[in-house]
Amino acid sequence: MGLSLWARNPGDLSRPESAQEYLMRLLPEPSYKKFITGELKRFDERDTGFSRGVVEGNKYTVMHENSVRNIEKLIPGKTILDHALWVAGRTVDYILRKKEMAREGAPIYNRGYRLENPDPSAMTKIIKEVALWLGADLVGVTKLNPLWIYTHWGHHNAMYTSAAEPGIPINLPEEYDRVIVMIHEMDHERLRRTPAVESETDIMYSKMGWCASSLATYIRELGFRAIPCGNELGLSIPMAIDAGLGELSRMGLLMTREFGPRVRISKVFTNLPLLPDTPVEIGIQRFCEKCSVCAEHCPSRAIMSGPRTDKAWDRSNSAGILKWPLKAMDCFNWWVANGTHCSICIRVCPWNKPNTLFHRSIRLLAERNLFTKGLVFFDELLGYGKQDKRNDYSAIQDPSVTKL
Ligand code: SF4
Ligand code: SF4
Repeated sequence: MGLSLWARNPGDLSRPESAQEYLMRLLPEPSYKKFITGELKRFDERDTGFSRGVVEGNKYTVMHENSVRNIEKLIPGKTILDHALWVAGRTVDYILRKKEMAREGAPIYNRGYRLENPDPSAMTKIIKEVALWLGADLVGVTKLNPLWIYTHWGHHNAMYTSAAEPGIPINLPEEYDRVIVMIHEMDHERLRRTPAVESETDIMYSKMGWCASSLATYIRELGFRAIPCGNELGLSIPMAIDAGLGELSRMGLLMTREFGPRVRISKVFTNLPLLPDTPVEIGIQRFCEKCSVCAEHCPSRAIMSGPRTDKAWDRSNSAGILKWPLKAMDCFNWWVANGTHCSICIRVCPWNKPNTLFHRSIRLLAERNLFTKGLVFFDELLGYGKQDKRNDYSAIQDPSVTKL
């Protein structure tokens, strides 16, 4: 493990706020590597909670029926206005997933030309500039580890993309040996509404689609190949960790330094020559060992408390690596009952803070695992993770227009 300044590649633009440069730990290999206890195998997307939700009792239909019931009962935070905002946020996502995502696609104007031997260092800098210009909040590059590619299409992504049928094997050509991983920050204030409807998750899917498909178009116009993805084709979290964008947390989500777990991830597979970033350690694994706030607040008890295990609860987890496996179906069943998705674990996490100077200063302690229990105690005492039940963050929450 080495100590190094923030910049990791020549002209590194992974993080737009690099003015906050200070010492951080760079790792020769991702932090999860030391927790591998057995043979890791590629994961079948049909075993994810989302895919199982499609085939095990048609849970999506039930969730949407429950959301309609919430509208009819005028439940605060789940009214027709909230519901409309949720669906509005998804508009671009619905279109792009059916046309662009998880597909190879051809260039639009390129007539067969291709950049000749672009310098990987310069190209990486350019790609990061473009990703940030398109709207990504962080961007990293990694060499593709084929272990992270799903073995087969699952029902959920097959249903939303129409790019393949569930059960079709996924064989990404070896040529796609680089992944550009983009991080999209969800708004801190809006996410505080959860488990009421919070449309921030939904609009992020549209931003993921916009950024990934636009970046793929850019790469194709240079004469190279690119496949834009949100959650499709492979496991985004280990790819983001490999790309130096964060670490795995107890709640099973990516934890970034800048935004904690309050992010979504998109990715572009490509054959463009790019320099991989270096994995980082930001102290999350040791922090989570001493904190279990997410497990305590999870309404479905899907998040494990106590030490890690390398056993799987069921087929929705991978065995052979020490971590805190999620009870995926318990989590999803709670969404179904709630009538909308849930981000309580993200809301209550002490790392979920606005990326302000004050919180960046406190983070210096958290990253170094200093006073961890004290930080967690004061975080709860000060009410940082509490739900925001006010419906007045926007004028459109006027109750006079929620009655049907
Ligand atoms: S999303 Fe909600 S139900 Fe699922 S793990 Fe997080 S807190 Fe628990
Ligand atoms: S709430 Fe605590 S234990 Fe859970 S992911 Fe956040 S830091 Fe880790």
